[in-house]
Parts: sequence; structure tokens; C-alpha cells
Amino acid sequence: MTFEIRKIGIIGAGQMGCGIAQVCAAAGLDVLLCDLTEEKLQAGLATINGNMARLIARQQFTDAQRKSALEVIRATTEYADLADCDLVIEAATENEDTKRKIFAKLCTYLKPEAVLGTNTSSISITRLASTTDRPERFIGIHFMNPVPRMQLVELIRGIATDDSTFEAAKVLIGKLGKTSTVSEDFPAFIVNRILLPMINEAIYTLYEGVGSVDAIDTAMRLGANHPMGPLQLADFIGLDTCLSVMQVLHEGLADSKYRPCPLLVKYVEAGWLGRKTQRGFYDYRSGTPVPTR
Ligand code: NAD
Repeated sequence: MTFEIRKIGIIGAGQMGCGIAQVCAAAGLDVLLCDLTEEKLQAGLATINGNMARLIARQQFTDAQRKSALEVIRATTEYADLADCDLVIEAATENEDTKRKIFAKLCTYLKPEAVLGTNTSSISITRLASTTDRPERFIGIHFMNPVPRMQLVELIRGIATDDSTFEAAKVLIGKLGKTSTVSEDFPAFIVNRILLPMINEAIYTLYEGVGSVDAIDTAMRLGANHPMGPLQLADFIGLDTCLSVMQVLHEGLADSKYRPCPLLVKYVEAGWLGRKTQRGFYDYRSGTPVPTR
């Protein structure tokens, strides 16, 4: 019998955690969103509310659906509140040390049968699982950004993930109206193994002066029919996340072709992380994105 997931905890109320909370609540699951501070949580809840308002304006959601979805999302700064969750999805900052610390603390509260999922974009599921008390109940559940709009979820088993954990995750993804694919546990899995080197190459193209931000994005939108340019996409993902994924690819596959572009490193060092900080390859502060190079 498949283990049924009714109550979901989500660690990290950033762009991904909020997106996951939104689709889980819309599917009628109980959601508990957890972040470091009340401010982060309130900003996250406001984002979810705003996203739902946009869906209502596009007539893809009703006000009644919004009310009932918002009613089932609760917020907390205490990991202890996650004790009765059937599944906790970790969607905190893409940093292995941060994630390890979260699991170490979280596992002391979780019920034994609870499943632990991670939304990591690149880090080894097997290695993260090994830091927990439940490698067999641990799985990679990789949602795409923006979660409410993107159809795919990559499921990644660690070496110890058991069949009932995999099945429970797969059933959940179906309940959310999404499609799952299975990726093996190698650095950055499938989507980001292919996508991030392309973004990194676009940044090298900028770094070497082959084209401006505008020229590179226009070239890929109109010349390769991509819905958004690679630099615009990098800003959307978050430049810290892009850098972290490239570092995992570079270290994990030991191949110089994955070397993160020094210009990407410089933007991250400046704290210009893309849309979430209002500045990256574009400056968003005036409301209209203006290229920064
Ligand atoms: P984000 O920077 O928007 O949000 C991260 C959140 O985690 C922040 O609100 C931060 O306060 C919180 N956090 C950090 N440490 C914490 C802790 N100890 N306890 C609780 N909360 C903590 O990042 P994001 O874009 O939402 O990415 C989150 C995860 O999802 C990362 O692993 C990332 O690789 C993955 N991911 C990102 C994308 C994307 O396009 N951005 C897509 C798929 C997966």
C-alpha cells in the first residue's frame, strides 16, 4: 500500500518554497511553511497571495479557491512544528552545508515514517541522504521555476531510497497535476546538467565581449526560439543558485568545461543575484528591466 501524503512541511519560503506551497495548497493538502524569520514568511505568504491574484485575473483560479488554499497554509519559524508532517520538502538556499544543518536539526523532530525530500538543483541525493537518520525515506523532488506554471518534476532516488518512498512521491506529483521524470543521481540531474552549462556559456559570451546582454538574449529568443534569453533566465533562477549548480558540476564531474564564468562569480560577490535582489544582468529597480552591461 502506498504511503499517503496529506500534510506537507516546506523548509524555505523563497521563490521555490512558496511555489511548492501554492500548488500543494491548491491541491487540498495541508501545508506548513518554515523559514528563518517571520519577515521571510510574511513576504512568502504575500507572494503566494499575489500569484493567486494573477491567476484569478487570468480566470485560471477563483476567489473561493484562493480563500480555501490560503486557509490550509500555515507558517512557522520552528522545526518542531513539522513533527506531524508526512513529507517535508527542503527548499532552502542551494548550499550543501546549509542543507546538512537543516536535516540534522529536522530529523530529531520528524515521525519515523515521514518522508524527507529535497528540491536541490544539483547536490548528490545519496550524500544528503547519508547525513539523515532515514536514507531509505529520502528522495530528490526537483520542481521547476515557476512551480505553478512548470509541468515537470524530476524525481531522483538516492542509492538507499526505498520503493514506497519513490511511489509516495510519484503519487503526490500526480495529485499536483504535474508530470514526473526519473533522473539518476549525478550532479545537477537532467534539466540543470543541460540548462546551466548553456547559461554559463551565455555569460562567457558576455564576458568575452561577443555580445551585449540585449544582443545575447535577443539572439537566443529569436534565433533559437527560446521563450526567454539565457541571461534573463539566469536572473530569474537566481545567480547564486546558478553559480552553486556550476560549482557542483565542476567539482562533481571534474571537467574544466563546467568552470563557472568569472563574471558570474563577480555578480554573486556583488550581491547582484538577479530578480530576487532587483539587480543581476538586468536592473529591475525602475520596473522596466535595464541591461547592466
Ligand atoms: P531563495 O533564495 O529564493 O530562497 C531560499 C530560502 O531558504 C530563503 O527564504 C532563506 O531564508 C531560506 N533558508 C535558508 N536557510 C534556511 C534554514 N536554515 N531554515 C529555513 N529556511 C532557510 O532560493 P530558491 O530559488 O527558492 O531555491 C531554493 C532551492 O530550490 C535551492 O536548493 C535551489 O537550488 C532549488 N531550485 C531553485 C530553482 C530556481 O530556479 N530558483 C529551481 C529549482 C530548484
